[in-house]
This record gives sequence, C-alpha cells and structure tokens, in this order.
Amino acid sequence: MQVPFYGHVRQYHNIKAEIDDKIQEVLESGQYVLGPMLKKFEGEMREYFGSKYAIGVGNGTDAIWLALMALGVGPGDEVITHPNTFFATAEAIWIAGAKVVFVDCDPRTKCIDPLKIESAITDKTKAIIPVHLYGQCADMTAISKIAKKHKLFVIEDNAQAIDARGDNFKQGELSDAVATSFIIQKNLGCFGDGGALFTNNPQIDETVRKLRNHGSARRDNHSFGFNSRLDDIQAGVLSAKLKHIVEWSDQRIKLAKRYTEGLKDVKNIILPFVMPGYRHVFHLYVVEVKDSSKRNSLLKFLNDNNVDAKTHYSIVIHKQEGFPWYKGFAIVGPVKNAELNAESCVSLPMFPELTDAEVDYSIQKVLEWDKANG
Ligand SMILES: *Cc1c(COP(=O)(O)O)cnc(C)c1O
Repeated sequence: MQVPFYGHVRQYHNIKAEIDDKIQEVLESGQYVLGPMLKKFEGEMREYFGSKYAIGVGNGTDAIWLALMALGVGPGDEVITHPNTFFATAEAIWIAGAKVVFVDCDPRTKCIDPLKIESAITDKTKAIIPVHLYGQCADMTAISKIAKKHKLFVIEDNAQAIDARGDNFKQGELSDAVATSFIIQKNLGCFGDGGALFTNNPQIDETVRKLRNHGSARRDNHSFGFNSRLDDIQAGVLSAKLKHIVEWSDQRIKLAKRYTEGLKDVKNIILPFVMPGYRHVFHLYVVEVKDSSKRNSLLKFLNDNNVDAKTHYSIVIHKQEGFPWYKGFAIVGPVKNAELNAESCVSLPMFPELTDAEVDYSIQKVLEWDKANG
C-alpha cells in the first residue's frame, strides 16, 4: 500500500461538479478580479466565520502583514510570536518592517506559551501573533488578557486552523483580526494562492480593502498600497468548498481518533495533545519521538514503507539558513520547547479523504518501528 500525504485530487473528484460549476460561472461573468464571485464569497465567509468583515487577499502571508500595516505596526515596533511555525508568520512581520520577538511554545500543544509572553514585552511591543498550529487554537483566553493589560494588538494566524475553536472562545472574538491562507495544503484550499482577513474592526476592513488594491477605494483615486487580491476563480472554488468544511473537519477529527486509538500503547512516541474542550481540526497529526535522535529513523522507516510522513517543521525559524541576513530583525528568547519540537516531530498522513485502511496501514508501520526500538 502507498499512503499519500495529501488528497487534493481525491477531494476535487468528490465535489467536481460543484467546483466546475463555480469556475464556469466566473468564466461566463467576464469579471475575474474584484468581481461578483469574490463579493459573494466574502459574504459567505462573514456568515460562516461570524465576523463583521471578511476581506479576500492574495495569500495568507499578505493577510498577516496587511493587518499589521492597517494597525500601524511597522519599523521600530516589536511583534511577539514563536519560532516553531511556518516561516511565513515571521516573514510577514519582517515585511511589515517590525522586529520579530520569538518566545517559547507550550510543550504540549506547541502553540505559543502565554506564560512566556509577558517577560518578552518591552515599550516597543505592539502586537502578538499566536499561531493556531497544526489545527488547534492557541490559548486565546490567556493571550488576550495579557494583550489587554499591555494594550497590544492580537492577530491570530489561523492558516492551519479554519473551523477550529477554543473551549469558550471562537476565533476572532478575542483578537483584532484573524488571518488565513487558502493554499491547497490548508484545510480549505483553492487551486492557486489565496488568503483572507476576518475582523470586526471597520478601520482594519477599510484600510486593508484599499491596501490590497493599489491604495484605491474609488476609481482613479489612490493612496499608496499594494496588489494583493483573491481572484474570482479562486473565490468560486472556495465558495464550493466552504460548504464542506465542517464535514471535512469532522472527518479529520475521526481519523485522528483512529490514529490515537491505534497508537495508544506506543513506547517511543508522544501523541498529539488536545486541550480539554477545544475543537482541534487536525490540519496535521504530529507525533513526537521521545528520543529526538531517533526521529529521522522513524521518518525513514515510514517513507521506506510507502507512508508519506513529513516534518512540520524540522528547522525553527531562527536556525534557517537564510537567517543571518535578518540580523537585527529578531530577538530570540529561550525557546527550548520549540527547538525540541523541531527535532522530534513527525507528521503522519492526514486529510479528510484518507481511508481507514490507509490510516491502519500507517499505524501498523509506526507500531513495527516502535517495537523494533524496544
Ligand atoms: C501556510 C501558512 C502561512 C502562509 O500562507 P501562504 O498563503 O502560503 O502565504 C502563514 N502561517 C502559517 C502558520 C501557515 O501554515
């Protein structure tokens, strides 16, 4: 058996008629950028997400820095996040011109550790960007308390966690804005690049709408801006897919339970931790190898046995090869848990179209490796 890491084409085939219809509708409309399909999809996103505003932009990275820029965060300012995330979280801070401050992650969830935030706050700190890593919300209750106390903005990076919830909070309730990505490997993915920003703040909505379109709100009137728009064909694809997101998340959760049940007796591996009461949508099912020096051995064993396991992410951002040219751009505090996460993580195949048999085969291979390692 061959277990793939992604199921993009399976997903397309499952709802092909719905997607093809939407694409056809856009093609026939003759309006492909800032057209009626984008407007319609923005309305659907507002309704689904429960936010006053939803703005389609070019990609998830842009969504983050456009939000920072709309809030006036830039050169001279500091923004707190954690280093065991996808590179783009930090990149967006750099694009906005601010300095990134890395604090450690929670050793269980791998999301930012709220207890580490306060000691990193200086008089230059303007914002916190918690990442809802692997499909689980960061502890927004604790984070928003700190933000309120120190008058900081909070932008949630939910690129990996559309449809996730906390125990007593929804995304967007305890922050200034929520940035998401629609690239295909995300839980809601289009057929190219795409992203969106959700907010209840009319000033962010108005500013980002202008910034994404060359600083223009009215024809022939411009202030300086950028070109970062979600095009109408992608909006059409996403409009078709949005109707399925809850059922797809439920399926991911079901498959995650299957993994967790099948792997419950392993000796050399720690299974994903779900915060009590949270809806973790398992963008990724990430296990940790207890002895991190054996991580690559598990990865190789799985790959050699046709299970396409990967790592998310095996190099923390401040250890990336390109990092020296960011000199002065980042402040790195003690980040032991984040570094250990990078050294020990293995992501098992996880997507809604994965079959039970494929999950069982992957489980069996992990168990074989576990047994061979005592
Ligand atoms: C994918 C991702 C992004 C960036 O999204 P793009 O659409 O690729 O720009 C940002 N943050 C996180 C955590 C991501 O996983």
